[in-house]
Amino acid sequence: MTESYIEIPDNSKGYNLDMFCVPKHYEQYLDSVLIPHGVISDRTERLARNIVKDMGEDELVVLCVLKGGYKFCADLLDYIKALNRNSERSIRMSVDFIRLKSYENDKSSGDIRVIGIDSLSTLAGKNVLIVEDIVDTGRTMKKLLKVVNENSPKSVQVCSLLVKRGKNEYRPAYIGFEVPDKFVVGYALDYNEYFRDLNHICIINDEGKKKFAV
Ligand code: 5GP
Repeated sequence: MTESYIEIPDNSKGYNLDMFCVPKHYEQYLDSVLIPHGVISDRTERLARNIVKDMGEDELVVLCVLKGGYKFCADLLDYIKALNRNSERSIRMSVDFIRLKSYENDKSSGDIRVIGIDSLSTLAGKNVLIVEDIVDTGRTMKKLLKVVNENSPKSVQVCSLLVKRGKNEYRPAYIGFEVPDKFVVGYALDYNEYFRDLNHICIINDEGKKKFAV
């Protein structure tokens, strides 16, 4: 399996907010739409196909990284389920959830907290697919992989909707988009819990960072 993804270049201006439907309560705090919801969906459909093709017939435990990964994980699973319904070959799946916290405002605190890991022993001997919203430095994912691998899974793969260009210490096997090194929100990605209720992936502006800072 080779790493392939859609590259959004550093000089991409994204789309003007007026071209799409954005909640009124966020308009003033966003710079642009970087990835419209429809494009996210279409790319997710293809990732689902790639995963099903690579996974064979063994049962899959999907580990959804909350909270930012919940939309992507739910949509990815819907596409995998559609493939399961409509082909001769299908993968049985179960879903589990984990929460990690590493960010305050738009900065990684460096201190990564892992929450809700008590059920990870059920991963022993299983093929695990970790579904994440975004990999930035990759430290969060490295930490999670260490915890998951301590529970003797048969295999572990990572699917991340976004990877930030530049400084990754870890790159997942499945990537939706490689994005510029800017703080993005929407499609369940938050800034201090705000912007999860936004369909598109957008760039937050300085006013937004100030308004929703903790
Ligand atoms: P890493 O450990 O790879 O530096 O950070 C990964 C985590 O930081 C992600 O799971 C996500 O929670 C958060 N994160 C990193 N970059 C962004 C970003 O641009 N927007 C949002 N909303 N979260 C981010």
